Amino acid sequence: MKTIIEPFRIKMTEPIRLTSREEREQALAKAHNNVFLLDAEDCCIDLLTDSGTGAMSTAQWAAMMLGDESYAGSKSWKKFESVIKDITGTKHVFPTHQGRAAEGILAQTRLKEGDIVPNNSHFDTTRANIEFVGADAIDLLCQEGLNTNLEASFKGNMDLEKLTRCIEMNGREKIPFCMITVTNNTGGGQPVSMENIRAVKTVLKKHGIPLIIDACRFAENAYFIHELEAGYQDKTLLEIAQEMFSYADAATMSCKKDGLANIGGFLICNDDDWAEDFKNLLILREGFPTYGGLAGRDLEIIAVGLMEALEYDYQVYRHATVMYLGKKLESLGIPFVKPVGGHAVFLDAKGFLPNIPPAQYPGVGLVNEIYIDGGVRCVELGSVMFGKRDEDGNETPAALELVRLAFPRRVYTQSHFDYLLEVLGDVWRNRDAICGYRITYQPKFLRHFTCHFEKIA
Ligand SMILES: *Cc1c(COP(=O)(O)O)cnc(C)c1O
Repeated sequence: MKTIIEPFRIKMTEPIRLTSREEREQALAKAHNNVFLLDAEDCCIDLLTDSGTGAMSTAQWAAMMLGDESYAGSKSWKKFESVIKDITGTKHVFPTHQGRAAEGILAQTRLKEGDIVPNNSHFDTTRANIEFVGADAIDLLCQEGLNTNLEASFKGNMDLEKLTRCIEMNGREKIPFCMITVTNNTGGGQPVSMENIRAVKTVLKKHGIPLIIDACRFAENAYFIHELEAGYQDKTLLEIAQEMFSYADAATMSCKKDGLANIGGFLICNDDDWAEDFKNLLILREGFPTYGGLAGRDLEIIAVGLMEALEYDYQVYRHATVMYLGKKLESLGIPFVKPVGGHAVFLDAKGFLPNIPPAQYPGVGLVNEIYIDGGVRCVELGSVMFGKRDEDGNETPAALELVRLAFPRRVYTQSHFDYLLEVLGDVWRNRDAICGYRITYQPKFLRHFTCHFEKIA
């Protein structure tokens, strides 16, 4: 059959509250025009993130009941560890309560002030954890990745020339490790090819620099490799994932993404000395090494979820929903990052609102209008999230002004997508009325979560 269907049926439902435009205007005003501060109940379709928002399978709900809540050495830990070792082939596994805890432990044990950490594109919490210890997080995305209109296959790849130059300029001693994010969330959810991971590893190996995979969407990346990279069509997604991890010395993971869980993460590594440091800080910050920051039932859920994320039919369906949206946006003439990413569609706010300068955050204008129009919540990935600010408050805008529509896993159906398309069509037609914003309050780190905005009339 040509029609791709959801490879599951629905056994439990959760009601969505439908709101009026007036109610949404009031809600957004109360939230200081920052959608992160809205009540979830006031969002009709919530595309804020694909993180921890997925629906669990019957197998996961059943596994939950097997949770062994022993403090040390539980059966659930054994399953968790065994599945992760099976997928990654890595020697040491540490559970954490989510991805950023793994990043925090990595940064605090391995980095010092003045160090440099290259990545294709750092995710916001990764960057924040690196900067928090005084190191510098730099993005070395390939040139294609910066062009939002270019149809290319692996726009998440790292630029190898930039990487080589970075190592030569700064010296190996300044770079305790290099990261690569699969798929590249902040760069449009674009995949990284196996060839690129292999080549990055080769460059790093020459200089003795370890490679760390930010593995949050490892299964989606494996699917892209299966579909797009020569030589991988006959391999299973598990085999592809295994090869990806074979090039890594360590990895950080948020199980809220391709763990198909609502909470959880892990940190893995091969080096015994690193493991010793990780373990000690893990005990201080998260918990005993056989549960980290998680309950036994969470470990069970993740052990099942990681394998379900590698099921081919699931990835086919997931990708088809995102492609469907992309195709329709194209026909409406709405500018978005091409090709569509693995977990999200990224609208190009600069192209959508060319008259709003980056200093007035066009992404926020777009996000807020999408919410007011249809109760759909999405998120800005632009100068609010990634703009650099010096001590005097001067801002350098981000390279891209994007608005991300992220898709929770196994949650929404095609009619939800059709509703979303109607909203986006509406906002596109009335785009001339959209205003820019200024920030009236902001914290020092990760400002996008809690800052307040005011409309510039
Ligand atoms: C979500 C995410 C993280 C952080 O994980 P949390 O579980 O949200 O702490 C790190 N890197 C990438 C690429 C992510 O998408």
